[in-house]
Amino acid sequence: MRREILKMLLMSVLLFCVFVNGNTTVLAEEESIGDHLLELWGSKDKKDQPQQREQEIPDPAGGPEYSGRVRQPVSNIILQQKYPNTVVLRGPLTENKVALTFDDGPDPRFTNQVLDVLKEFNVPATFFVLGKRAETYPDIVRRMVKEGHIIGNHTYSHTDLSKAADIETLVREVNQTEDVLVNLIGYRPKLFRAPYGFLYDELVEKLAEMNYTVVGWSADSLDWRELPPEDIAYNVLSNVEPGAIILMHDGGEQEADRTGTIKALRQIIPTLKEQGFEFVTVPDLVNIPYQK
Ligand SMILES: [Zn+2]
Repeated sequence: MRREILKMLLMSVLLFCVFVNGNTTVLAEEESIGDHLLELWGSKDKKDQPQQREQEIPDPAGGPEYSGRVRQPVSNIILQQKYPNTVVLRGPLTENKVALTFDDGPDPRFTNQVLDVLKEFNVPATFFVLGKRAETYPDIVRRMVKEGHIIGNHTYSHTDLSKAADIETLVREVNQTEDVLVNLIGYRPKLFRAPYGFLYDELVEKLAEMNYTVVGWSADSLDWRELPPEDIAYNVLSNVEPGAIILMHDGGEQEADRTGTIKALRQIIPTLKEQGFEFVTVPDLVNIPYQK
């Protein structure tokens, strides 16, 4: 009898082990797909994101069940095909024009240096700023405008909109940024870029309703990986075509270092000029207004 009980116990332990192991495998697969997506879309190094989330993103309105409400982001290419009037990834192939874009500023450590290089080469750019940072460093945003650059909305606190997974978060983050910017630069930007490029259908539809144009990119510098400047320059130069929208970053998290971006610009701008490209802002490239 005792032997029978022991046998049963052993079987239960074995079954439990198989069950746990099975689940672990599924979780590991999901995680690696997630990593792959992050890689594919040129989003930020994951290591800094949870930190940023904790520091800057308000608690979810619906309670703590964050993971249950996560939405899978949809590829920007698919969104562009589905919403051609709202999502732009590039300008026309017929003109030798390109647009430099910078995300995540204003950042007092790097943005002024980026602006210095742009000024030196007399090149306009488009800056997708965070409302919270614009509020903290208004003078840098004023300098952007004064030197002929265009401002776009990049949310207030760099929220991952697919994780937040509700329209209310989008509306709050966008409107809060608009309110900061209208006081600072005198207009409500028409351009929006999603943190990490993470969006899905309903968010794009809401942004269209809010009269925004969603701006993606066609040439990713991958500068957020803090590559050597020549690698950042290569990533851009080897992917640029007429009409390219180039993704770079003038800001970053606490440990971020954008000196590679600044140095790379000194290679990218003269090389493209030599190749006959003209630098324009995103609204000029795609022929839309910059303000609502
Ligand atoms: Zn960003």
